[in-house]
Amino acid sequence: MIGGMKDFEFQGLPWNVTFGRGAIHRLPGILEQNGLRRALILSTPGRTRHAGLLQSVLGESAVGLFAGAAVHVPTGVVQDACRAARACAADCTVSIGGGSTTGLGKLLRREVGLPQFAVPTTYAGSEMTPIWGETTGKAKRTGRDPQVLPVAVIYDPELVVSLPPAIAGPSALNAMAQAIANISTNPLVGLVAREAIRVLAEGLPRVMHDHGNVDAHAVMLHGACLAGAALGLGRSGLHHRLCHLVGGMYNLPHAETHAVILPHSVAHTAHAAPEDAALIAAALGAGDAASQLYRLLIEFCPRHSLRALGLSEPDVETAIAAADVDPSDAADMRRVLLNALAGSPASSDGRTTSGKKTNL
Ligand code: NAD
Repeated sequence: MIGGMKDFEFQGLPWNVTFGRGAIHRLPGILEQNGLRRALILSTPGRTRHAGLLQSVLGESAVGLFAGAAVHVPTGVVQDACRAARACAADCTVSIGGGSTTGLGKLLRREVGLPQFAVPTTYAGSEMTPIWGETTGKAKRTGRDPQVLPVAVIYDPELVVSLPPAIAGPSALNAMAQAIANISTNPLVGLVAREAIRVLAEGLPRVMHDHGNVDAHAVMLHGACLAGAALGLGRSGLHHRLCHLVGGMYNLPHAETHAVILPHSVAHTAHAAPEDAALIAAALGAGDAASQLYRLLIEFCPRHSLRALGLSEPDVETAIAAADVDPSDAADMRRVLLNALAGSPASSDGRTTSGKKTNL
């Protein structure tokens, strides 16, 4: 510590971002610059309009389509996608979709070495992180590997106007969670995180009340890009651990799981780290971080508790037992999960914490 400043280390990431209305049409040039001409398109089932648009933009460079991406990236899906990549002799992947599709592209990079070009259509932010996730059976594993970072990211807000509000609201809170986890990681990441929260908080009511507005989606994609950058450069803690634990084990919708847990994980850490809670509240433009996040959950998300997502008390206990952590960590996890299970109002003054400083 020098003059009140904490010591820190920082390493950047080699991002290539193209952001703008109609940016998808720049993709052929981007592939060409990288010497690639045989793209396997990745998408989730049902997103045929986006996959078709990409096929027409890429023309002969689109040599295959794998439309089977699934949430939490199941191992079986990765194996099927690897087979599809080999069958069409792809030299790269172009993913179009949310975090499930981007996540599949990351594992294709890891398994068969194909560089990924990501076109995000939710606010998941995965495209800016070197974090992969994979679910085998009921266990979701995540890890960091600089190799899985997409070679280029193309943000085109025109592709996001189709996002239904019931997906957009939770997706925005998922993005906020990434920035919140990094509010005080170090001065550089904290700056990105605070700006991400500010932009997302400003854009969310706008996009939810005027859903067809491309400019409002551009603001949200801007926030998602920053939030993903904060997570990519920074860290994740208790909140993300809980989301991956119950999400992978019970195959819960990823963004909604983040949205219902976030107010309670923030309330939990606020008592032990009031300075972080104050930074989050300021970025949100609110007096209290946890209660503001709870308000956003109630106003903009369809479901407000883990119980509404189908979980019960015994499910929470099973998940905590599987986490295999020490009793004090288990008590913290239980406290947050039971509050999220009930979906009761969260507040940073709630004194719901053991007082131990835990990274969000
Ligand atoms: P998702 O990718 O599963 O998409 C949710 C639904 O929205 C899908 O049915 C999809 O088809 C649909 N959809 C996507 N874009 C659309 C659009 N523009 N219009 C209409 N429908 C659209 O969900 P998600 O929340 O974006 O991503 C969740 C996954 O991403 C999880 O597996 C999670 O672990 C991963 N993730 C990873 C990171 C990371 O850094 N590695 C970060 C965030 C999320």
